[in-house]
Amino acid sequence: MSAELETIIGLEVHAQMNTKTKMFCSCDNDAFGKAPNTTVCPVCMGHPGTLPAPNGEAVKKAVIAALALKGTVNAQNHFDRKHYFYPDLPCGFQISQYDFPLASGGTVSFVVRDDSGQVVNEERCGITRLHMENDAGKLTHRGSKTLCDYNRAGTPLMEIVTEPDLRSPEEAVAFAQELRRILIAVGASDADMFKGMMRFDASISLREKGAKDLNPRSEIKNLNSFKALEKALKYEEKRLRKEWEKNGGPLPRDITVGWMDEEEKTKMLREKETADDYRYFPEPDIPPLTFTKEDIENIRKELPALPQERKKQYMDLGLDEALAVQLIDQPELRRIFDAVYKKTNDAKRSSGLVLTQLLGFLKAEEKEISDAPGVEAMVELAGKIGSGTISANAGKDVLEKMVQTGKTASQIIEEEGMQQISDDSAIETLVLKAMDSNPQAIESFKKGKEAALGAIVGWVMKESKGQANPAKVNEILRKQLEN
Ligand SMILES: [Zn+2]
Repeated sequence: MSAELETIIGLEVHAQMNTKTKMFCSCDNDAFGKAPNTTVCPVCMGHPGTLPAPNGEAVKKAVIAALALKGTVNAQNHFDRKHYFYPDLPCGFQISQYDFPLASGGTVSFVVRDDSGQVVNEERCGITRLHMENDAGKLTHRGSKTLCDYNRAGTPLMEIVTEPDLRSPEEAVAFAQELRRILIAVGASDADMFKGMMRFDASISLREKGAKDLNPRSEIKNLNSFKALEKALKYEEKRLRKEWEKNGGPLPRDITVGWMDEEEKTKMLREKETADDYRYFPEPDIPPLTFTKEDIENIRKELPALPQERKKQYMDLGLDEALAVQLIDQPELRRIFDAVYKKTNDAKRSSGLVLTQLLGFLKAEEKEISDAPGVEAMVELAGKIGSGTISANAGKDVLEKMVQTGKTASQIIEEEGMQQISDDSAIETLVLKAMDSNPQAIESFKKGKEAALGAIVGWVMKESKGQANPAKVNEILRKQLEN
């Protein structure tokens, strides 16, 4: 009979910082979609005689991220050279941080959900360290040839290492998603998974339940999506359990495996390298970084609300949890919602306009949120509805046309002659006409059938092609009936 086993997972997360320039030179940091080897210079290409200079913006963003993860920024830290030879690394070493990282410690709270989105439990994962380093270039293998693109070489990265606190692939994914939300919220990284701005290495091992010591682990390299992270961990967990059954115990030593996305399995790469293999030594061209308490506190003051706080704020406004999470996970959508809410001061109305109507029309047009009318255009539309220029119903049609054509609300209202009729005398004329044309409805109303008024209001709306202000119609109709 085999012992009950528990799964131990820890992650190393690489997140690209969204700075203007690279980590140690002034090359453009946004190389996505640019022609290969066009955002490079002698520094990031490692030419002899060049000197790296740390990017102050990147250092500040890394500090902000560390504080958001509740870490301690180390007053003294420095860069080290990490050596390995591979064609994606122009210098022959990576500038990283080894024994004195930027920050130590920290913790992230996160919720784990089941497939239907229900919260299963709330967990925490400790953070071991956060350090800065520069990224390598990108290799593309074509048949027997390998193409090298160094645009990415020198891009500023944060490496965030967790404690082995995660107990299942589902927990690992939930943690990684929360970490991504935090990095986006504090503006340290755009963490766009599609553009490879966030990548994971996952370590997994097994031990008998109740045991204290960790067993040798399998490290899965270079996972580029949450899907890959989950699938790879599930695969490796199952594999390690089988191995345990077969050998009566854990792996004899640490190993490194690669995830084969297409085949959906891991492949042994090598025994895990140790720090000695990298021949770390202090980077001689960059002086140590020092921070005073004041430096840190000044940056701490700039920390925006973290995702969990934001979620609570949205839920306090009356949004349900799913909508609140949607806003947190989509910064562009959140900017629109926040602005519309500021204009209307009505969460239900803002949510209807932005989260129901806007998202619905975008979906119908097969458009992305980046194609949506901008913040100003949405605020203008909300203003037109709020001021009664158009009815809420007409607002829906206007929004649909805004999404389809890219025109503003004013343009569409003008072109289509959609201004709402709020003029009292114009509405009175329409109401009197409606009463004349619907004697039966008036009769039923006088007999106590309140609903009969609907027919008269409906007649006015039809007659005015939907442009009469329904609230005004109701008001004037009642006044007439009281006479
Ligand atoms: Zn450069």
